[in-house]
Amino acid sequence: MTNKLIGILQEDLHFERKGDSIIGTHGSRWYSINRNSSNTVSLVTSVNLEDETHFTSFSDALKQLKKELKFSYNIEENHKLTIVIGDKLTSKATAKKTEAILEGLNRLMDELDLKNSCFLCNKEGRFDAYLVAATSTELCPECINAYNQTIGALKEENALHGSYLKGFLGALVGALIGSILWVVVSYLGYLAALVGLAMAYLAYSGYKIAGGKLGKGMAPIIIFTIILAIIFANVAEVAISLMLDTELGLTPMEAIRMSPRSLYIADTWINIGMGLIFGILGSLGIIRQSMSEGSFKHMEIEKY
Ligand SMILES: [Zn+2]
Repeated sequence: MTNKLIGILQEDLHFERKGDSIIGTHGSRWYSINRNSSNTVSLVTSVNLEDETHFTSFSDALKQLKKELKFSYNIEENHKLTIVIGDKLTSKATAKKTEAILEGLNRLMDELDLKNSCFLCNKEGRFDAYLVAATSTELCPECINAYNQTIGALKEENALHGSYLKGFLGALVGALIGSILWVVVSYLGYLAALVGLAMAYLAYSGYKIAGGKLGKGMAPIIIFTIILAIIFANVAEVAISLMLDTELGLTPMEAIRMSPRSLYIADTWINIGMGLIFGILGSLGIIRQSMSEGSFKHMEIEKY
């Protein structure tokens, strides 16, 4: 569904495509159509609105168009226009609706004689197209320079002050907090994948809070702490069941001391294995995010 809609629109409009985002010229202006991670379709452009009068006449006309064609929209910083298009039953129908909205919007901007601008700084004109965080826009050379410098500075700062050791300790604390949740929830008998997600989130947050280094080692360190925490949670579960077993009559200290011996029993490793499968499944999204952050991919801009 995702690729199909963007594919149809790309062909109809002769736009250029990167991932699930397309950008191109319609009339004399640039527009981009993007399918973002929350799966909504948005039509984006940047309109140079010189003053209050232009702004008012533009939003009045947009409101009229909205009534006609049914969409929601948002104007940020007086120039960034995002129109959110609801999905119809088929990709074809959604494409048709999107094209009608694009047509209407372009006509409206013709009537008001409105021009495009840089998506970031609102400087009037047409510029090169870039994909930034899954949305395509046109950006002026000054904004591109400033953006690249910011990324460079961030990378330098991270290389100087970020540390894998601090990150590991932070992630471990986070993951161990997650293993408390794990014990409670497995006791109640719920699915471990959800707890895996919470555990991964805690490990990831711990890593960041402790000042962990953003780099290739980030994702493996987080995965390692999750594995440790899941093993820990399983041993803790054994300790708890030993404590609760009145026939054995162990003191809590004795139960804790005995519980690691369960690691010599095959059944324990079957439990741990199951736990790992669910835990890692639940945390895949966060692991993927750590990998992209580690390589600074989430901040990189791609030129068309
Ligand atoms: Zn700019």
